[in-house]
Amino acid sequence: MNYRCPKCQSTKIMPVASAAGPRPNIPKSLLVLVPSILLLVVLVLISIVFLVIGKDAGMILQSATIIVFLICLVSGVLFWRVLPDFKITMQNFMQDQKQWKCRQCNNEWQN
Ligand SMILES: [Zn+2]
Repeated sequence: MNYRCPKCQSTKIMPVASAAGPRPNIPKSLLVLVPSILLLVVLVLISIVFLVIGKDAGMILQSATIIVFLICLVSGVLFWRVLPDFKITMQNFMQDQKQWKCRQCNNEWQN
C-alpha cells in the first residue's frame, strides 16, 4: 500500500469516496437469509429447551420452525445462484477502495 502521493510525495492523501464508484449490490436473498437463519437458531434452541424440560413444543412453535426453515432453504438456494455475481460485485468494490486522491495536487491513482 502506497501512503504517499506518487506525484508530489505528500502524505495528505484520502481514499476516493465509494459514492463515485459502484457500491456493492447486496442480493435481497442474503438480506432474507441472514435474519431467517438467526430466527431458525432461536426457534431450534427454544424447541430444545422444551424437549429438555419434557414439555410438548406445541403446534405453533413446530409450524414456525418449519416455515422459517423453508424460508432459509429458499433464500439459501436463491443466494447460491447469485453468488458468482455477488463475488464479482464485492471484488469491484474492494478495488474501488484502493483508489486514492492527493489533497495536495489532486492527483488520483490506484494501488
Ligand atoms: Zn500529490
